[in-house]
Amino acid sequence: MKRLVILGGGESGVGTALLGKAKGYQVFVSDKGKIKEKYKEVLIHNKIEWEEEQHTEAKILNADVVMKSPGIPEKVALVKALLEKGIPVISEIEFASQFSNATIVAITGSNGKTTTAMLTHHVLKQELDIGLAGNIGDSFAKQILEHDFKNYVLEISSFQLDGCFGFKPKIAIITNIVPDHLDRYDYKFENYIASKFRITKNQTKEDYLIYDADDQVISEYINNNTIQATLLPFSLTKKIENGAYLDQDNIKITIDNNQIIMPTKNIALEGKHNTKNAMAASTVAHLLNIRKQTIRESLENFQGVEHRLENVLKINKVQYINDSKATNVNATYFALDSMEAPTVWIVGGVDKGNDYEELYPFINEKVKAIICLGVNNEKLLASFGKMVDTIVETQFMSEAVKIAYKIADAGDNVLLSPACASFDLFESYEDRGRQFKEAVRNL
Ligand code: ADP
Repeated sequence: MKRLVILGGGESGVGTALLGKAKGYQVFVSDKGKIKEKYKEVLIHNKIEWEEEQHTEAKILNADVVMKSPGIPEKVALVKALLEKGIPVISEIEFASQFSNATIVAITGSNGKTTTAMLTHHVLKQELDIGLAGNIGDSFAKQILEHDFKNYVLEISSFQLDGCFGFKPKIAIITNIVPDHLDRYDYKFENYIASKFRITKNQTKEDYLIYDADDQVISEYINNNTIQATLLPFSLTKKIENGAYLDQDNIKITIDNNQIIMPTKNIALEGKHNTKNAMAASTVAHLLNIRKQTIRESLENFQGVEHRLENVLKINKVQYINDSKATNVNATYFALDSMEAPTVWIVGGVDKGNDYEELYPFINEKVKAIICLGVNNEKLLASFGKMVDTIVETQFMSEAVKIAYKIADAGDNVLLSPACASFDLFESYEDRGRQFKEAVRNL
């Protein structure tokens, strides 16, 4: 019997444990922190051995294969010890995908993964038997065990990809690549880029790589490396022969001379970045022979994802927008770009080495006032202080929203798009977004 050790008793860990057990492995789950009650119950109920608040090396270093939760860095001593012993350390996606013959659409990128995954799933589910997994909802492993869909849309982070070796999606998407999480990549952008491109490593020319051709980082990598997959780029700015592009108010998608045309006019999601996401999703749909009418209708009725440019409320003709998931400058760039009215912008949090320069053109053009919401706002004040008339700081969401309420005039927007992580004042970006919405509702 092969021994499967799982490091991390969260959603992906427990799902892997269940699948591993069903496939005849001897399973052991070990978590350095506390395991959530609901997961403990599952482990106990299924008679799977586990431990928490420790890693007992004697029970780990005898593994045949180790599934590591994506949250655990490769640099930790235990993982190093495993690798030195030649024990494969893989991700949940890698482990689970060996037990499925489903057609896989795998989505990665620095921004837009969740939105594109949910939109793609929304379109495909109209006509296909399809699951949605990865960083969303129930783990991929658990779904393979319980549903065994014929198709899956998977949202895949670079940390998951780092633990992928044989994973071979039929269709891969790279939404975009901007510097992020560099602490896990020796502060080398090229390592992070290479990690993203692992998504296509095992693809052959019968498989497809869909990517943003306007993204210079991606284009450069593709020009300088051999990619086996059939390339299907999409672009907002140039004509694409095989792939998708924006022609005035229409998305045109051509695959093997078969073209479909989608009007953008009624797409529910706003902003250029979402047009890109829609192009990626419709390219997948076209590849998988979803009817044009179905694609069009699904793009029109997909209402977006919480905390991503989410319209909250209109009060005194001021629109309040929650973009709490914008945890880097690139995401905020697209948020500000999509503003069509003077905007009071709430920004700040844990700065991940941000360079705010690309946002400068929006100040005054769109942004009329800035509210800095973080423990340390100095960098924001230094970057934007001289550019706008009104810039204030606070450490409380309720206060930030009240100030915004006072500053905003009828017809304006109030946008929370922090460009920073949330951990200085909030538990998570979800917590930050919820507090924003709560404060808006209390106005
Ligand atoms: P991820 O799962 O990659 O973090 P999300 O879909 O959750 O991506 O979106 C994260 C942030 O990025 C949100 O603020 C969203 O509005 C913005 N965003 C969504 N799609 C894109 C895109 N294609 N390019 C840049 N920013 C995007």
